Amino acid sequence: VATHAWRIVLRDLPEEGKSWDLAVPAADLQDAALGAVDALPACTDMHWQGEIRRRGDVWRLVGRWRVTLRRQCDRCLAPFDWTVEGSLERNYRIAEHAPDDDEEALAFPGRIDLIDVLREEVWLAWRVRAVCREDCKGLCPCCGADLNRGDCGCAPQDEDHPFAVLRKLKLG
Ligand SMILES: [Zn+2]
Ligand SMILES: [Zn+2]
Repeated sequence: VATHAWRIVLRDLPEEGKSWDLAVPAADLQDAALGAVDALPACTDMHWQGEIRRRGDVWRLVGRWRVTLRRQCDRCLAPFDWTVEGSLERNYRIAEHAPDDDEEALAFPGRIDLIDVLREEVWLAWRVRAVCREDCKGLCPCCGADLNRGDCGCAPQDEDHPFAVLRKLKLG
């Protein structure tokens, strides 16, 4: 297993733990050779502020992150820069099994790949729909034209309107 700057080994942490307030380089987030979780289409470095502290046998990792990624608008399908932020909290224990669901059991000496933890958090956040802008008009349901670029000239077709379908269902 390759080592890199984002690997944490619980056995080697000082008693007071460790804290971060730094930029995780976009190049590291994009680098498929780092970590095991799918690399991110990051456009910017990630701001990461967090800490890991020990409480008894449990190591608690908490923090906040923010990054901008390239993704596709759910309405008009155009690529755009999506800025997202989140907070995380994870509990680790060096053991064969975790005693409860909000803890992760790690084999000795307790390796955590921070780049993977951060990527997982971003991919979880990615599941929400994202639009290039709040008033994105999307694509014409008839001809597929991007309605943000102007009217495509198709006649308005009430049948294609999502509420028209709902109305039909209610009447039917
Ligand atoms: Zn859009
Ligand atoms: Zn059209």
